Amino acid sequence: MTDDRTFVVVGGGLAGAKSVEALRELGFEGRVVLLGGEAHLPYERPPLSKDYLKTGENLQDAFVHDEQWYADHDIEVRTGTVVASVDRSGKAVVTEAGERVGYDRLLLATGSSPRRLTLPGADLDGVLTLRTIEDSQAIRAALQPGRRVVLVGGGWIGLEVAAAAREAGAEVTVLESLDLPLVRVLGPKVAQVFAELHRERGVDLRTGVTVEAIEGDGSPTGVRLGDGEVVPADTVIVGIGAAPVVTLAEQAGLEVDNGILADEAGRTSDPDIFAVGDVANVHHPFLGRRIRVEHWANALNQPSWVAPAMLDQDGPEPELPYFFTDQYDLGMEYTGMADPEDEVVVRGDLETREFIAFWTRDGRVTAGMNVNVWDVTEPIKALIRSRAQVDLQRLADPDVALGTLV
Ligand code: NAP
Repeated sequence: MTDDRTFVVVGGGLAGAKSVEALRELGFEGRVVLLGGEAHLPYERPPLSKDYLKTGENLQDAFVHDEQWYADHDIEVRTGTVVASVDRSGKAVVTEAGERVGYDRLLLATGSSPRRLTLPGADLDGVLTLRTIEDSQAIRAALQPGRRVVLVGGGWIGLEVAAAAREAGAEVTVLESLDLPLVRVLGPKVAQVFAELHRERGVDLRTGVTVEAIEGDGSPTGVRLGDGEVVPADTVIVGIGAAPVVTLAEQAGLEVDNGILADEAGRTSDPDIFAVGDVANVHHPFLGRRIRVEHWANALNQPSWVAPAMLDQDGPEPELPYFFTDQYDLGMEYTGMADPEDEVVVRGDLETREFIAFWTRDGRVTAGMNVNVWDVTEPIKALIRSRAQVDLQRLADPDVALGTLV
């Protein structure tokens, strides 16, 4: 018997693309429509602040699938199609162009968008944010030898772009409101590693500063700080976090609170509407609380437990959060989710930047971050999932195999 249902996915990013892939892999034979607002087929974003930003090459590798794949899998993928509203009672989405697309089940994968500064000069040309291929291209064009690049925000975008900018020979200043970059995620001990890395590479890292205005006439000439100092700038890149794109969900009357509220398998307050990726604020069964994760691995993996739920099937248990970064010669992976007050145990050497940092609570590992140490993600995951109390001295000892700790 053929399946005459239509599943519509709104959002043509990685989470949307992996979801349609998962639906077909799970045997769904009905109609699948993927609506994306960008002009491109779905692509992965990590290269936009890393290799593609540095080299401008191999953009094709960022695309999740080529056009032929969507055709082969009978997926109607429409780029440049912005959905304006969801008609829940009529079970249809309505595009900005006025087209209605009916659905039996709807998946919202609308992602997140960069937070903008709201201060004088924030809308000058040359004040850039990073989310799309075009954003990355505009930033790359600005990363020229001797050009003064100021990054507002010392988060992942700020630091990855700072690294690319220094490697391109630009003069780089990072302005961070907290005492250390990344300190909210990593805590002071480990955040210091990133501060030193960037300072060694010639970044003027200013912490504990506030930004009052961007000065310029047409394009930026400087960034005025709270104490009145003006940091000269030819280009200003703003990386002060992202906000979930919840307009459609709110308008549709779904429960929204820092993203679309959903259970562990992406079920929202409407049984026929699901949420996935950056926009989904989901219950995480292992962590026992809600999380909304904007990292690449979440968009990549979450569809494998959301797509089964759309088909009323049981899916795998959600994975632990994971993300990575590459900055200069530092490569790092982070697994789990720590609280700022968790105790940090270091195995290895912070100064040579070759170590694993573990966050622990009551002797139990909540997260692990390997820096220039590889092939340890699986044992770190096992340590976290075991919830076992471990001997912290042995945890810190590189001669004790991770697998023997539990
Ligand atoms: P982010 O990692 O949340 O960092 C933003 C930083 O800017 C925070 O340290 C924030 O401090 C600071 N900040 C906020 N307002 C500021 C202001 N007015 N002046 C100066 N500093 C300010 O966000 P992001 O770097 O913009 O990245 C956007 C999203 O993409 C994030 O979710 C990020 O995780 C993701 N991303 C991930 C990767 C990766 O996984 N490698 C790479 C790129 C992007 P407060 O904490 O005090 O607000």
